Amino acid sequence: MRSPQVEAAGGLPREVTVYEVGPRDGLQNEKTVVPAATKVEFIRRLEAAGLGSIETTSFVPAAWVPQMGDAEEVLGALGPAGVGRRRPVLVPNLRGLDRAAALGVQAIAVFGSATESFAQRNLNRTVAESLDMFAPVVERARTEGMWVRAYVSMCFGDPWEGPVPIAQVADVAERMMDLGCDELSLGDTIGVGTTGHVHALLETLGRRGIGPERVAVHFHDTYGQALANTMAALRDGVTVVDAAAGGLGGCPYAKSATGNLATEDLLWALHGAGVRTGVDLEALVAVSAWMAGQLGRPSPSRVVRALTGA
Ligand code: MG
Repeated sequence: MRSPQVEAAGGLPREVTVYEVGPRDGLQNEKTVVPAATKVEFIRRLEAAGLGSIETTSFVPAAWVPQMGDAEEVLGALGPAGVGRRRPVLVPNLRGLDRAAALGVQAIAVFGSATESFAQRNLNRTVAESLDMFAPVVERARTEGMWVRAYVSMCFGDPWEGPVPIAQVADVAERMMDLGCDELSLGDTIGVGTTGHVHALLETLGRRGIGPERVAVHFHDTYGQALANTMAALRDGVTVVDAAAGGLGGCPYAKSATGNLATEDLLWALHGAGVRTGVDLEALVAVSAWMAGQLGRPSPSRVVRALTGA
């Protein structure tokens, strides 16, 4: 079979926006550093497969993330189509925003942490200090008419702290949304969350005025839970799902080859349930098979493997 038999499943949205993170979150966490020209080709092929929202790169200092040191080169090569409101880039601070704005970027994402341990390791700041760093970035981005996404990492567990209280996650999420962000992406950075946990967090956020229409989910498949958790979130009204083509990006915090939810695995589940995404699964599998060749490793996506016989 090249595509799933379609049988409508109740309780799901009719349409889901796939927010493709392969070029940024995926490649940033791969061991192989991919040349800028290959990234540009990857993004173009993702677009051609029908992906509407693609996070393209990151304007963090190259010393932090050498894999993203070519942000200017990638966006320069993509031209105006690469910097629209559905082509967000990661921006940590005002310096990053300056670099992005100079290229005409119209959508950015800031990335906070639900835990002090990860804020310290990822941003070298406390949670409060990182919010202070984001505040002027979001303010200026909004003044310039940009769309702004807020990531919160470690929403379902932290490798150093263990369980993370839901109220603590909601506190950070609320403070980031209060800065003026348009969308909140809940990250299960180590892939430990389960479906009841997803429901409980969404319910808490809803009670605090952050409804599912402003929430995206970002699950990792480290413990095999990403797709189950995603479907649970969709049943609670979420309609934006983060995924990486081919399941790119290992998990840097758990020595596992399995990182982001694979876009193909998501599409198989959604299309089978009669949910529209606008993405051509077969075309995307071909893109991921090509990228696996560039990286010199097989795709961890079950659907890519099944459809390519890899
Ligand atoms: Mg990720």
